[in-house]
Amino acid sequence: MNDQEKVKIFDTTLRDGEQSPGASMNLKEKVEIARQLDLLGVDIIEAGFPAASPGDFESVSMIAKETENATICGLARCLDNDIQKVAESTAAALNKRIHVFLATSNIHRKFKFNKPKEEIIKLAIRGVEKAKSFVDDVEFSPEDATRTELSFLAEIVEAVIKAGATTVNIPDTVGYTTPSEMTGIIQYLKKNVSCIDQAIISVHCHDDLGMSVANSLAAVDAGARQIECTINGIGERAGNCSLEEVVMALKTRQDLFNFQTNIMTKEICKTSRMVSHITGITVPSNKAIVGANAFAHESGVHQDGVLKNRETYEIMDPQDVGWGESELVLGKHSGRHAFEKRLISLGYELEKDVFEEAFHSFKVLSDKKKTIYNQDLVSIVENFALQSAENFSLVSVEMNYLREKSTSEPSLKAKVTIKDLRSGELLLGESSGEGPVEAIFEAINRALKVSVKVFSYSIKSVTEGQDAMGEVAVKLTYNDSSPKMGRAASVDVLEASAQAFLYALNLLDL
Ligand SMILES: [Zn+2]
Repeated sequence: MNDQEKVKIFDTTLRDGEQSPGASMNLKEKVEIARQLDLLGVDIIEAGFPAASPGDFESVSMIAKETENATICGLARCLDNDIQKVAESTAAALNKRIHVFLATSNIHRKFKFNKPKEEIIKLAIRGVEKAKSFVDDVEFSPEDATRTELSFLAEIVEAVIKAGATTVNIPDTVGYTTPSEMTGIIQYLKKNVSCIDQAIISVHCHDDLGMSVANSLAAVDAGARQIECTINGIGERAGNCSLEEVVMALKTRQDLFNFQTNIMTKEICKTSRMVSHITGITVPSNKAIVGANAFAHESGVHQDGVLKNRETYEIMDPQDVGWGESELVLGKHSGRHAFEKRLISLGYELEKDVFEEAFHSFKVLSDKKKTIYNQDLVSIVENFALQSAENFSLVSVEMNYLREKSTSEPSLKAKVTIKDLRSGELLLGESSGEGPVEAIFEAINRALKVSVKVFSYSIKSVTEGQDAMGEVAVKLTYNDSSPKMGRAASVDVLEASAQAFLYALNLLDL
């Protein structure tokens, strides 16, 4: 094993991933993800673009303080102020990197800057030198590299390495290249850049044509030793190379690649679920490695084969990427010990009081639902793990359906009771509405004497069957605040809706 070369995993879930439409995360959520990425063993965490906003600056600073192993990196344009902000926000990290970028393709040069090539090279050198005045570890990206003329690409790569760049990243910014073309680009740079051995070659591939993982592997084959990727492949447009896919491809096909990464693959599923839960971007069930069906065998012939010998139809061991030990069903009669063991196998070790609350929820759920799957447990645990300090808690929800057809009155009424945890007071609210969810939300608004607007509402089932739990996600806005998201799961979707609404309210400054 020791003669295997390392490929560095550079995770950009918190920077490029956050640019996925609708994926914005708050400070607490970003730190939560960064801690998990650190556990997962990624070599470099691109924590954000500090010059983009004060919020980004703050989250990069916080992540630099709260992580222990990974190098913390921030993105910057070739501008003094951008570079300065990365240096300041990553200062507390043990290992830090400044990542500067500048567009180099003809189309970007012409329409974004209208500057000649010599000018672009000068700007890139200045950017790298400025970054180098703060840290040793400097990465340079010629944006849209795969659509840049090869000779110019080699020229700028040579210049930035001479200026001190220690990593040179080749981004397929628009997801345009193919595996054989990527191989050609890396080979060309190795041949035509005299100092190429003084820097690590990296790739950053987008998935617009579904080839980001294949292109990244082709680059590694040709000599790249860093892959930029995101959890669940989230990112701009069609997303980025997916970390779990590229890492498991390298691991499963060691016969072809003979490389190692530092990733603790058993943490993959947990990380995937956390990112999906926080961003609200669900993982399709047929997604490789982390999709719900990635290891499910439907055909009888396949099931029979797997039971006799797993390797007949499985090229990876599901436990190796953190799928629960077994899908053996938990139910009403399962005790604390079985519950705790299952949670540990799913990657959750809870503090005592959180464990007790989760166990209580499990018992309540097992009264309502016959079979409890791993996904149900994950949903229960994450409800606790991700809630912030509560001001209000839900005591009860009541629905009354009115059947009088003769009147023009709305057809249903909701009644809620909420406890204000700061004063201990019980708050009551009642409202009618066209639909039950609308009526419940309005009743909560009235109980709290506020008028909070629903920005988005979604509901999905956590597992299969008639008694499946429904997971509700609600985004709320109040005055001019950014939308806040609340999530809750229950067999009773109306209760889950009320709970999710209240969780989001707890995040607003009321
Ligand atoms: Zn990108």
